[in-house]
Amino acid sequence: MVAGDYYEILGVPRNADEKEVVKAYRNLARKYHPDVCKETGAEEKFKQINEAYGVLSDAQKKAQYDNMGHETFTNASKGNYTGGGGFGGGGFSSDFSGFGDIFDFFGGGGRRSGPQPGADLLMRIQIRLEDAVLGTDREIEVMHNEPCTACAGSGSETKRQNSCTRCGGTGQMRQATNSPLGQFVRMTACTMCGGKGKIPEKVCKECRGTGHTRVKRKVSIHIPAGVDNGMRLRMEGYGEAGDYGASNGDLFIEIYVLPHDRFVRAGDNLETFIEISPVMAVLGTSIEIESIDKRKIELKVPAGVQPDTALKIAGAGVKRRGHPGDLHVRVKVVTPRSISAEERDLYQKLAEIESKGSNTGGFFSGFMGGKKRGKK
Ligand SMILES: [Zn+2]
Ligand SMILES: [Zn+2]
Repeated sequence: MVAGDYYEILGVPRNADEKEVVKAYRNLARKYHPDVCKETGAEEKFKQINEAYGVLSDAQKKAQYDNMGHETFTNASKGNYTGGGGFGGGGFSSDFSGFGDIFDFFGGGGRRSGPQPGADLLMRIQIRLEDAVLGTDREIEVMHNEPCTACAGSGSETKRQNSCTRCGGTGQMRQATNSPLGQFVRMTACTMCGGKGKIPEKVCKECRGTGHTRVKRKVSIHIPAGVDNGMRLRMEGYGEAGDYGASNGDLFIEIYVLPHDRFVRAGDNLETFIEISPVMAVLGTSIEIESIDKRKIELKVPAGVQPDTALKIAGAGVKRRGHPGDLHVRVKVVTPRSISAEERDLYQKLAEIESKGSNTGGFFSGFMGGKKRGKK
């Protein structure tokens, strides 16, 4: 696990351009190369430098990294996210309002030899707030690689593979370069077998020996109640197909919750508001509220309610397993802009009573109009 973020590792500012990144990488790689540096931990440091460079030198990865932050990015790219998720039972929602942005995650540091596991995929979907609160089922389309059906993913018509003659089946080749500091030996992927160590006995015509075909698949997903912005669901094995004999990558679904016109989420609670007149605020009233799951709830507004008071409807918030959140209804007292002659008379009468001062202290607890009148 890398301590600190990639910018810190390379010692470059966040707005560093490509040249700065390359320069910093070269200096550090020279310094910490295991063949040169005998400090303890140099090898680990060298790995980190390479990992950081691998991301920051690639515009697309860098953009993802900047977006997600170090933690999310490295977790997702390693595919060890342990959030909720799972497969739904064929649910379908017709209001699917668009998704896009499907891209490969990178596979991490150096290339291992032998058959490679498939890359993880990330897909972003937009859902309505009510779907995040209540949970929903979706059917999405995923474009990914699957094992070729003609050759069962082997890349060979005979389904048999031979060991690569160039690398002797290791998938790796040694590449030596001379530098003033000495000879660097780098292991690189074999150019003949692409690092797999094996080559098809008879190249499959369908997939030209790759063992993969690109297909669009419909996938049913269950979005559990309580998901929030930025959360990721993991669909194991729904990423890219791996090399023959290696595992598939995973598909990560990143949730984007669209804003709602009546409800705002705050943790597991929801907030909304009602508007009442000053008269209703004084006398108290009862108002019908529609909850996010379209239930009609009678809300009692107590007499003497103060503006901006939040009234709680227990259990009408986010339906997370175990303990559902509440709905907080904020009271807005709206002063009427125009009133009838009759209302004016009554308000006038109230004003007169108020100015005489009443035994109860009136509406104001002495800090506004009350004091001023007192001085007169
Ligand atoms: Zn080879
Ligand atoms: Zn094939």
